[in-house]
Amino acid sequence: MQQEKTKKKRSDTLNIKKNVAAILSNLKGQTIVAATKNVFAEEIKELVRLGITDIGENRVDDFLKKYNDCIGTPITWHFIGHLQTNKVKKIINKIDFLHSLDRMSLAEQIQKDRLTPLNCFIEVNISSEKSKTGMEFNEVLDFVKKMEKYDKIRIVGLMGMALNTTDSKVIEKSFLDLYNLQLEIQSLQLPFAETNFLSIGMSNDYLVAILCHSTHLRLGSILFRNEESYEPF
Ligand SMILES: *Cc1c(COP(=O)(O)O)cnc(C)c1O
Repeated sequence: MQQEKTKKKRSDTLNIKKNVAAILSNLKGQTIVAATKNVFAEEIKELVRLGITDIGENRVDDFLKKYNDCIGTPITWHFIGHLQTNKVKKIINKIDFLHSLDRMSLAEQIQKDRLTPLNCFIEVNISSEKSKTGMEFNEVLDFVKKMEKYDKIRIVGLMGMALNTTDSKVIEKSFLDLYNLQLEIQSLQLPFAETNFLSIGMSNDYLVAILCHSTHLRLGSILFRNEESYEPF
């Protein structure tokens, strides 16, 4: 099972507690969406005990497993990974936020399968890498306007993943480009696309993201790191 191989069990909850405390001291009101793809339900429940109740999963099957394992735990569920159209039905009425709305065919499938309006972030390709997912900048405004007819979709924000680089200027530029697009959408004052949120910032760039108006930080490895991997950020 390929899935099992990549997962490491980390039951040292003391570290999670320490990691959360260290991160929280840097925040200015941002929501942490814990990216839990590499941990189990046990760690998710520990996060919830520590006050991190926004949980983000990447893969449909993993999400369903952990969703079931966490029934009874008060969690706001985010889906942050690429979502295949043929898997929408399996999860779409179980999640609270989708961070990866990136194409019209996905919007159409959500409109069919979702029962109530879903909070969606439009994923934008901010790294200008061909391999990265997300809509191109110049496609976003048109797409947003078309969402008027999709009453099961509410555009709450934009999501982006920066280039994996140590050049913080490059990261900052791509985040600010996304912020400017957010302002442009907000200026349209569309009731179905308030676009108040910005889902930017991962473990390696969340401090830059905070400076660039992030509202939702999607954090994975930094929450679950061990003592020996501590490095000043
Ligand atoms: C894994 C993941 C993250 C978190 O990445 P880290 O570098 O571990 O913080 C954020 N967003 C998405 C879409 C992810 O898949």
